[in-house]
Amino acid sequence: MKNPHQILFDLQKAFFQKELKTSSINERLKKLKSLKKWIVNNEKFICEDIYKDFEKGREEVLLTEIKPIIDEIKQHISHLAEWSEAKTVSAPLAFWGTKSHIKYEPKGVTLIIAPWNYPFNLCIGPLVSAIGAGCTAILKPSEHTPNTANLIEKMISELFHEKEISVVKGGVSVSSDLLELPFDHIFFTGSPLVGKIVMSAASKNLTSVTLELGGRNPTIVDETANLKDTAQKIVWGKFINSGQTCIAPNYILVHQSKAADLKKKLIEQIEIQFPISDKTRTKIVNSLHFGRLTSLLENTLNNGGKLIHGGENDTETNFLSPTLLDSISIENPIFQEEIFGPLLPIMTYNNLTEVVDIINNTEKPLALYLFSKSSKNQNFILNNTSAGTTAINETTVQFAQPHLPFGGVNHSGIGKAHGEFGFQEFSNSRSVLKQRVGFTTLKTISPPYTNFKKKLIRFITFKV
Ligand code: NAD
Repeated sequence: MKNPHQILFDLQKAFFQKELKTSSINERLKKLKSLKKWIVNNEKFICEDIYKDFEKGREEVLLTEIKPIIDEIKQHISHLAEWSEAKTVSAPLAFWGTKSHIKYEPKGVTLIIAPWNYPFNLCIGPLVSAIGAGCTAILKPSEHTPNTANLIEKMISELFHEKEISVVKGGVSVSSDLLELPFDHIFFTGSPLVGKIVMSAASKNLTSVTLELGGRNPTIVDETANLKDTAQKIVWGKFINSGQTCIAPNYILVHQSKAADLKKKLIEQIEIQFPISDKTRTKIVNSLHFGRLTSLLENTLNNGGKLIHGGENDTETNFLSPTLLDSISIENPIFQEEIFGPLLPIMTYNNLTEVVDIINNTEKPLALYLFSKSSKNQNFILNNTSAGTTAINETTVQFAQPHLPFGGVNHSGIGKAHGEFGFQEFSNSRSVLKQRVGFTTLKTISPPYTNFKKKLIRFITFKV
């Protein structure tokens, strides 16, 4: 049976080959500017539709859905010409007389699969890079945020012909059908579990992949940290979007001597930043995830964990309040998984070697946070652990630093997004070498291997 998306795929492939492949940088910039204009003019609708999906408030939408995209577009507008310029490389002696350069060519027909937690940002962010690189794209937004998916579909149909960019809505079966097609690149954001399915499907066509996945992000607070500042930043990074953030702190490891004070300050900060009276708070996306989180809370408590703050919930609205838990052992179920909600377990340690052992015995995280004034401790953690991204004395804002690559490592992701790194994911770095006709250095070593040539080969093998 023919794949239901084959016609769309073929349409994009033909358009890419005939027109888009040779599109100028100015044409791409024009498209990015029109995308930005649409977003600026439709701010109200973007906020309304995301609110309909999971009651995310206007300020959080502006800060975490719209601003990152506007910034990403601006970054592309300022630097696209420089990123896409052919890069000349030098020639070693054996290549004397040749000229070589790297040409960034668009990969071609691409697929972008997005999650629900930042439903606009994480669908349109990679699209900016795809447009910048000169690719076509099929967007598959998450089925769990249907209002945002409709808005994205409307935006794309107003700005682009489907032969260039189009939206295919639906859940797992739609995604599975799309994954059968021989795309030139797949950019997937979602869970490690589905990331494996995507990579396996992509391998059938040897399609390159960017996998932006999740993980269990450790947050270390050492004995030198400024606890008021630390608590303020952890509470914001953890509970914004109700903890449904891939780079949110997953668990805290605090030095034993500072644990009591940190807990007190975390509670104070929760009451300041996310008071229970504030009903405009982002909700858990659906009853399935709400049920998963309330069961996890129950399970944590049944396995020796203690509730020290929060735990209020409402099945009618999928509301779950910022919740702090302590007396957590590494066997506790809450330590074993990515929480992806407003539950924050706190563990204590006595020395940083213990911390490193705990982190290195789990999958490499997407983000690692360290609160410390000691450069010795900062270097120790940086040198003895691995993570996709790290922020020291901050949480989550590294996502928005436009000059840093964003992505995981192994289990938390493959490939990098944002700015030039995103542009490169959608580009093929094609190497081009131009040789002159007639006598060249390389010809001096072609067979037959005379005694002189043998000596020459030894010379260039070991001396040049
Ligand atoms: P998910 O993996 O369940 O779904 C992501 C997308 O994949 C959706 O569009 C969905 O329709 C599709 N999908 C789901 N199951 C599929 C299957 N079997 N075959 C093909 N496609 C399938 O993830 P989610 O619940 O939407 O998002 C939460 C996860 O995403 C968390 O693990 C989080 O850490 C991760 N995440 C990572 C980043 C990042 O930038 N690294 C950002 C946001 C979320």
